[in-house]
Amino acid sequence: MAVHFHEEDLPAGVLVNDRPLAVDTETMGLVTHRDRLCVVQLSDGTGDEHLVRFAPGSTYDAPNLKAVLGDPARLKIFHFARFDLAAIQHYLGVMAAPVFCTKIASRLTRTYTDRHGLKNLVEELLGETISKQQQSSDWGGPVLSEAQRDYAASDVRYLHALRDELAARLAREGRSALAQACFDFLPARALLDLAGWGEADIFSHV
Ligand code: MN
Repeated sequence: MAVHFHEEDLPAGVLVNDRPLAVDTETMGLVTHRDRLCVVQLSDGTGDEHLVRFAPGSTYDAPNLKAVLGDPARLKIFHFARFDLAAIQHYLGVMAAPVFCTKIASRLTRTYTDRHGLKNLVEELLGETISKQQQSSDWGGPVLSEAQRDYAASDVRYLHALRDELAARLAREGRSALAQACFDFLPARALLDLAGWGEADIFSHV
């Protein structure tokens, strides 16, 4: 297992298979139009993680990364895909679908709790511990610390295993089709966020 660090794009051919891809992003904050995309993390599930870092003023001209994210034949696994899809769409100009979102799968199956954070899922379902200490750190600096790199990589390290477990629970509870319908809607949900309907619920009566 190793963490590979890249600047501005993913090198060609570093993903060793065409399996589902675990994806996460780190940004300057939660306001997508204001807070630039700093890091995209990827794992193909074989044990290595790849971090692609974008410098201030980046043109986000990353053809290899855009090709894998935009590949309609490759499933992308996220935790809270809604945010990452919007950031990737806004800065890289691609919709990273089709999607499996572990947070939605957790909400649809783990109805006995309101703890749906990645750390909670990794602990309960996989018995592993990840640190969230670097979550709100400065991802825009010239050098990413060892702790930041480890944190960024750990955010994609467990998504394949979580998907396997959550897919089994969705099947057990008879909610696989409902989950799939929610995943299929996620690109539109991200586009609504970018277009200004972030907080409004367009399905609401009032
Ligand atoms: Mn993250």
